[in-house]
Amino acid sequence: SLIAGVVGVQGNVSEHATAIERACEARGEGVIVHEIRTAGVVPECDLLAMPGGESTTISRLVHREGIAEEIVDHVDAGKPLLATCAGLIVAAADAQDDRVETLNLLDVHVERNAFGRQKDSFEAPLEVAGLEEPFPGVFIRAPVIDRVGDATVLAEWEGRPVAVQQGSVVGTSFHPELTQDNRIHELAFFE
Ligand code: GLN
Repeated sequence: SLIAGVVGVQGNVSEHATAIERACEARGEGVIVHEIRTAGVVPECDLLAMPGGESTTISRLVHREGIAEEIVDHVDAGKPLLATCAGLIVAAADAQDDRVETLNLLDVHVERNAFGRQKDSFEAPLEVAGLEEPFPGVFIRAPVIDRVGDATVLAEWEGRPVAVQQGSVVGTSFHPELTQDNRIHELAFFE
């Protein structure tokens, strides 16, 4: 069976683990999911998720624990990574915030908490490239993607990119792990 890892230092960790289990079941794949808080586990993993939460905290802890380099090596080896919300911020090339040391896995610039106070949290039906029906996008103090380099835009909301893909990495401003809908996880891990 597959071995999956959820970067588990902070954030929506168990929700991603459950979503990964559902996505693998839908694809007829067995999976063991590890929550990653220390170095040494990522190299065992076939696929990874980096959750929503607080990007300054996730960034600080993955560097402190020696997990950051392992995530970079995982992506360099062409293995899938799904990075959501705070995870997207950490995976970006630039988060325009000194407190976030980004991993430069996606050639995008993001701006934290930039969807505006009146829209701190909202849900929106998103047209996502490769999905036939709209995906329920759950946005919680979500980052705006304000520059896209080599990445491909998979979805936009109100004219702004909210899902991107580059090689084996998919990043979303929203939280597929907080829905019952596996399709973004399946897209990231199996397509
Ligand atoms: N606002 C958070 C940050 O900047 C991200 C929010 C989230 O992941 N729900 O890290």
